[in-house]
Amino acid sequence: MRTSASAINRRLLLKGAGALTATCAFAPATSTWAATPPHRFKHGGFDVMVVSDGHMTVRTSLLAPGAPEPERTQMLKQANQTGERYDSPTNVALIRAASDLIMIDAGAGPNFMPTTGKLVDNLASAGIDAGQITKIVFTHGHPDHLWGVIDDLDELQFPNASYFVSASEWKYWTGDDAFRGLSEDRHNFIPGARRSFARIKEKLALLKPGEEIAPGLRAVDTAGHSPGHISIEAAGGDGLIIGGDAITHFLLSFRHPDWPSQGDQDQDRAAHTRRGLLDRLAIDKTKLIGFHLPYPGLGYVERAQGAYRFAPAA
Ligand SMILES: [Zn+2]
Repeated sequence: MRTSASAINRRLLLKGAGALTATCAFAPATSTWAATPPHRFKHGGFDVMVVSDGHMTVRTSLLAPGAPEPERTQMLKQANQTGERYDSPTNVALIRAASDLIMIDAGAGPNFMPTTGKLVDNLASAGIDAGQITKIVFTHGHPDHLWGVIDDLDELQFPNASYFVSASEWKYWTGDDAFRGLSEDRHNFIPGARRSFARIKEKLALLKPGEEIAPGLRAVDTAGHSPGHISIEAAGGDGLIIGGDAITHFLLSFRHPDWPSQGDQDQDRAAHTRRGLLDRLAIDKTKLIGFHLPYPGLGYVERAQGAYRFAPAA
């Protein structure tokens, strides 16, 4: 465990200061994320839990900007996302498998957006100490999934975890071509990813699609949103896929999977992956947890109107 005694003391001091603020009559009202309880269910031999990391505020202009009008405007109206920005949930899945407590993605941590980075507090509310997490699997290296490995004191948030990322994702973020094809407003993703990966690299294993993280839990290739994006498939019943950002929007991704999304690094490949995954989930009646779908992001994919629709299961 890397956390030093002085870091723990500083953290306790900071938490103490927060507690004092919370009792002050003029402190802001508790925001909604703090009240978000964990969502728990059983899947095969696994206990699954979804915990919120807060929400992102995203520019609505990033939602399928090249899509045909007036269909796009109509979709945004239907999604109730007609303002300049909209709130995107961030759902982190945890799986208890034998003696392992495996978390899929690590949240955003303190350095991304003020509305994200709530994961450790929400885990604590659910009775889970960050030190209990034994494995963390990254679906990809974007900030809201990776930067949470480090806390505000640059210490590891999950000091006893080992880590898994796909070999192609690792190669991309640490390679010479990382800036190529990444829009300028996202260039800060690269030093952030490199800093996070550098901090955990002694405990990081590289995965290939098809390989197992634990018995019954394996990586599935869902590249496109990022070059080495993976989803995690849990065996049992008709299956469960923790899909990361392969399917991000509860309406657009389902009704118009082919519309290019500005959030996807390789838009053609992401659309191809999305359609293939939606089709498979619909045919197999496999459960889906989507990182950015409405909390807790759990549901089924159904065919509808020549495309698909999200049927929440919670
Ligand atoms: Zn994301």
